[in-house]
Amino acid sequence: MADHPPLCFTRLFGQEKAKRMLRRSLATGRVPHAYIFRGPEGVGRKLFGRGLAAAINCRDHSTVTACGVCPSCMKIYSGNHPDFMVISSEKGGIKIGQVRKLCKDLSYPPYESVMRVVILEDVHAMRPEAANSLLKTLEEPPENNLLILTADSSRQILATLTSRCQVVPFSGLQGDDIVTILEQHGINPADAQLFAHLSGGSPGKALLLENTGIVELWKEIVTVLSVEEGGSDADIGVVLKLAEKMAGLKEHLDHLLIFIKIWLWDLLVAPHRPSSPGGMMIEFLKEEPRKLRKWSSEQLFTQLQAVEFAEKGLARNCNRLLVCEVLLFRLQ
Ligand SMILES: [Zn+2]
Repeated sequence: MADHPPLCFTRLFGQEKAKRMLRRSLATGRVPHAYIFRGPEGVGRKLFGRGLAAAINCRDHSTVTACGVCPSCMKIYSGNHPDFMVISSEKGGIKIGQVRKLCKDLSYPPYESVMRVVILEDVHAMRPEAANSLLKTLEEPPENNLLILTADSSRQILATLTSRCQVVPFSGLQGDDIVTILEQHGINPADAQLFAHLSGGSPGKALLLENTGIVELWKEIVTVLSVEEGGSDADIGVVLKLAEKMAGLKEHLDHLLIFIKIWLWDLLVAPHRPSSPGGMMIEFLKEEPRKLRKWSSEQLFTQLQAVEFAEKGLARNCNRLLVCEVLLFRLQ
């Protein structure tokens, strides 16, 4: 069973700058009426928004953050607080109808708290007409409302939105922190290392990878390619089946190809760097009873090129299944 992230934002991983800014606002009582939490996907922006909502409405006034046990904190933690809302972004961003409904809701006072807190997800994806309909409310929200917009740091957002909010920067997390978070979600240490390696600092992204079955498929591919009796005589049927599974990953196939590249790279550098951290990735092969193949540096370079060739093919929208089949045959 996964541990739930703590309610108090100061106990969340990383984001020291965001913590400092939010603590200062709370301590001085100068919380603006709107924030933009700007940073990569999956690094905790919504959890910080929830923590801020809890801190503002906490009934224990001896702390500037959230106590976690008063009725208000408990309701926010369980997702049942009537004055804490998340407006989710669907494909194409938050819609104009959602904004209109929100503006109407905000015109009523909060049900039971000092401040109603609303998180608006992924405002970078909003269409201009939806964003424009939010501007007036953003500039002068009705009393006792705080809006927290989240936006991707790699995407453009309208200056009319940023100029009306206090921007709080978020960044990718350290590898060790991601490993700890993943282990708290029940992921075994070896996979957690691997995911942390791949996630680009985003535990949210790493957890998404976990749910797509990529690691299992990657292990299957590595095993088929690594055992000697597989080798060039590997059952063509097995390889074609693997290619089919790979193609079935659709947009996640890119991640799998990165996994394969890391594995090959690891094999290439292992003789020169025995303490290579990537060594953990093939830990599972140690239990393989069959004899494992050994490739020369030249062969590994050729294989890496084959993966890059496949990546280029995918970028050009070539037939996914065909790209996977060609790749697997070239990797043998
Ligand atoms: Zn509390």
